[in-house]
Amino acid sequence: MTVPRITVGNVEIIALVDMPMELPWEIIFGSIPLSEFEAYRELYPKSFGSGRFATQCGAYVLRSQGQTVLCDTGIGAGPIRFLGGACGRLLDDMRDKGVQPADVDIVVFTHLHGDHVGWTLSPEQVPNFPKARFLVPQADWDYFGKMLETNQQMRQVLPLEQLGVLDLFSGERAITEEITTYPTPGHTPGHTSLLVSSNGEKAIVTGDLAHHPAQVERMDWCSSFDTDARTAASTRQQVFAQMQADGMIAAFCHFPEPFGKLIRLEGKRIFQAL
Ligand SMILES: [Zn+2]
Repeated sequence: MTVPRITVGNVEIIALVDMPMELPWEIIFGSIPLSEFEAYRELYPKSFGSGRFATQCGAYVLRSQGQTVLCDTGIGAGPIRFLGGACGRLLDDMRDKGVQPADVDIVVFTHLHGDHVGWTLSPEQVPNFPKARFLVPQADWDYFGKMLETNQQMRQVLPLEQLGVLDLFSGERAITEEITTYPTPGHTPGHTSLLVSSNGEKAIVTGDLAHHPAQVERMDWCSSFDTDARTAASTRQQVFAQMQADGMIAAFCHFPEPFGKLIRLEGKRIFQAL
């Protein structure tokens, strides 16, 4: 059963699903033959659709010290052209899980790809999270530049500057005393995770550090969307070792199961869903 809500010390983390989807393998892992993934089918059956890569667009709400923090805003209301007109339901999923968009104090983007910023603005071009400030990795803001003006989803972040609710950040930045941004570059230059530490317990919300659970073992496997494959692989090496050593709960935006731990089993590192 998929666990949608956990506590890490005093921090509550709620997993949101904007859109489940199945995509052709070659779109996500163009350089890795499907036959290579087959070895992981038994271990991660939910990641294998009917001949396709089964995934989802997810996001997370964290409640810490009276602050409601939203990590990423999904792919958006749609209809999403390149997904055959599919529509997201992030705001409905939030409300179903007891979080009102108006409660969100801070939105943090792990990175600026379109499937992580899609519900930022309403059709009227005002924020869907009316009292929030929006934290954007400086390196992504710089890297994507002009693309932010043209991409159907990504252009939603540009008006945040004019509206005076944009905060560009770099490096490690405290969101609350229990939540800190942590640079995990490679997927994009500014790709950032959130480290959660409370009452001796730890978690990491880690966006697109990996797209398929097999990558916790095959850290060299890169998705087609990793902008710097070598850096992405070396970041996975470093961060996955840390996750496993510290017994952290890991939360990946695109894994079919939203929470798990990296453990050693029969000489291999696996993602064990909670
Ligand atoms: Zn993504």
